[in-house]
Amino acid sequence: MQPRSGIRVGSIFGIPLYLHSTWFIIFALITVMLSTQFQSQHPGWATPQYWILGIAVSILFFASVVFHELGHSLIAMKYKIPVVSITLFIIGGLAQIAREPDSAKQEFNIAIAGPIASILLGFGFLGVLPLLPHEGLFWAAALLLSEANFILGIFNLIPGFPMDGGRILRAIVWWAKRDYTVATRIASRSGQTLAYMMIILGLWAVVGGGPVAQFLGG
Ligand code: ZN
Repeated sequence: MQPRSGIRVGSIFGIPLYLHSTWFIIFALITVMLSTQFQSQHPGWATPQYWILGIAVSILFFASVVFHELGHSLIAMKYKIPVVSITLFIIGGLAQIAREPDSAKQEFNIAIAGPIASILLGFGFLGVLPLLPHEGLFWAAALLLSEANFILGIFNLIPGFPMDGGRILRAIVWWAKRDYTVATRIASRSGQTLAYMMIILGLWAVVGGGPVAQFLGG
């Protein structure tokens, strides 16, 4: 994806924030999914409440994605690496940095800052739960956002490109082998292997009978 593609909606810490055209699709899907979920979990509410809450939680979810990207961006800026843009698109967010980091340590810290930001925000939403009326509107929203941020943080630690874990792996190999090219190759292969594994596990689960199907079925 090209940097600075999409609609510019503002800037944060001097970094232009863009919404890619594909983002509107996922925003609509998540809003509908959330509203439907609230409707089934809390049948006592009025219809507009489901939709208002669905839209609000969807916006807060994408604000959480921006928060994750800001984690990467602020550490990059600390190393004097300019951040060109933060873009939200169909599968999440992307902080575009102007150049590659100078060292394995910089790469490691920039990569891990996103998942750390998400996990901290997950704890933040968890922390406000006791302050909200149990099973109420805001309580349900905070619980969902807490879960979403934990998933965002942990899922990104999967050690293969294009996840943050791929960059973390590259930084570790780069540091251990003192070779950036070898490290990039290993992190790319790890990403491909993980993708194949996910496809195979998925097929196995669909075909059924295996332990994965049982696991997925709870
Ligand atoms: Zn990230």
